[in-house]
Amino acid sequence: MALIDFKCKECGNEFFEIVNSDEKVVCPKCKSDNVERVYKGKFYGKGNCSGGCSTCSGCH
Ligand SMILES: [Zn+2]
Repeated sequence: MALIDFKCKECGNEFFEIVNSDEKVVCPKCKSDNVERVYKGKFYGKGNCSGGCSTCSGCH
């Protein structure tokens, strides 16, 4: 189980969900399932991190 960031391709809404493996995620705003996973940083206050830094344990 993980907290994962998503962005809706339909309306541009950004949100996060706690998901289990392959559970389907839909946009809470427009209910579209046309969402893409967003890889980290901005919700955690370390905007320069792309996820691969050596101090990344606190980033995601
Ligand atoms: Zn949407």
